[in-house]
Amino acid sequence: KSAQIVVVGAGYGGATAAKYLRMMSNNTAQVTVIEPNPQFISCPLSNLVVGGSRQINELSVAYGGLEKNHGVKMVKDSVASIDQQKKTVQLASGQTIKYDKLVLSPGIGLMMDKIEGLDAANKAGVTLQAWKAGPETVALHKQIAEMRDGGVYALSIPLAPYRCPPGPYERVCQVANYLKKNKPKSKVLVFDANQDVTSKGKLFKEAWAKLYPGIIQYTPEHNVTAIDAKTRTIKFEVQEDVKADVLNILPPMSAGDLIVKSGLADANGRWSNVNFLNFESATAKDIHIIGDSIQIAPAMPKSGHMANQHAKVTAAAIIAELSGLPINPQPVLTNTCYSFVNDTDVVHVASVHQYVAAEKTFKTVPGSGGLSPEPTALEGTYAWGWAKNIWADSLA
Ligand code: FAD
Repeated sequence: KSAQIVVVGAGYGGATAAKYLRMMSNNTAQVTVIEPNPQFISCPLSNLVVGGSRQINELSVAYGGLEKNHGVKMVKDSVASIDQQKKTVQLASGQTIKYDKLVLSPGIGLMMDKIEGLDAANKAGVTLQAWKAGPETVALHKQIAEMRDGGVYALSIPLAPYRCPPGPYERVCQVANYLKKNKPKSKVLVFDANQDVTSKGKLFKEAWAKLYPGIIQYTPEHNVTAIDAKTRTIKFEVQEDVKADVLNILPPMSAGDLIVKSGLADANGRWSNVNFLNFESATAKDIHIIGDSIQIAPAMPKSGHMANQHAKVTAAAIIAELSGLPINPQPVLTNTCYSFVNDTDVVHVASVHQYVAAEKTFKTVPGSGGLSPEPTALEGTYAWGWAKNIWADSLA
């Protein structure tokens, strides 16, 4: 009887894992994917929707390809709990599905309770995150489009690690790009809990100074502690309060909720520790965890490109194990991340990470990758090429 493999989440990690589990097993493994969303919507490029230069349908891909082209079984539902003893998952609808191997790629959880009043402010429609692409991405653009000229958009960034290190800095470029053209008296305030811009720092700072002088104001070491929804006020650890018209507040992040509530996160309830040779949970046999939910190795970002790479290493290791073959003792992961500084011009960061057996971790290969010298429109075409290729690689 062929192995039953259940994949939870069909985002960058899960969709890729499902497809490659089928391909690497010559279509013999039974692969079932549980995903509540009707279609894939990409976080990469979603900042362009926030800035209004692109529409969300340009970042959306139907799930049909996994079923039609690869024989993956798609179940439109979400996993409510995992029974590690019985090796089953329970779905929100009540159905139970058995697994021999379980692959979890549920993305991130937003730790709303770390900022006083944030949950209530979200429920009142005063704050939002748009850190999972979809209706909130569109809603954030609408708030910015409806803001008065001379208004203030504020973005707060939690301490790293969080999903997509350059993502917040790209977002403020997109918001400023929109405001510069449409409401030039407005301001973009960035409050970063970190000591400095955590990714592509020099490139972003140059772009802000050149393209958006007087619009973007960046303040490091400002950790948000509370939100007052009534007065639209942001409170910090020590600094003065700030009021804004649009409040895009990103709380600290963790592994996806399912992982945290299943006891598969670390002692702090944040990220999952895994064996980097096969991404099996450090504490739960036959449960493999990939994508943003894992405790990353040094210098490895929480990115869609990385999630895609975790998925391939995991699929190869699972199929090797089920076939009685040795697993690759030295996997290699690559990462490229493009950021738009306006609606056409782009910068990238790239890196290569190799497993180092003696230290049981991935290390950046010296001299690999690097940064763009400056933003160009040519890199903008590469960024769209990257997106179309990775969507085809994981979903077609
Ligand atoms: P996701 O892709 O979020 O997939 C998780 C899936 O799991 C979702 O579809 C969700 O519905 C599903 N799910 C969750 N819980 C359950 C459950 N209990 N049951 C069933 N299904 C469940 N990365 C890049 O490489 N390049 C970029 O340019 C880039 N730009 C970004 C810009 C922004 C604004 C943001 C927010 C992120 C960006 N990223 C980028 C990061 C990238 O989106 C993430 O790293 C990537 O999505 C992680 O993949 P994942 O599979 O872990 O999670």
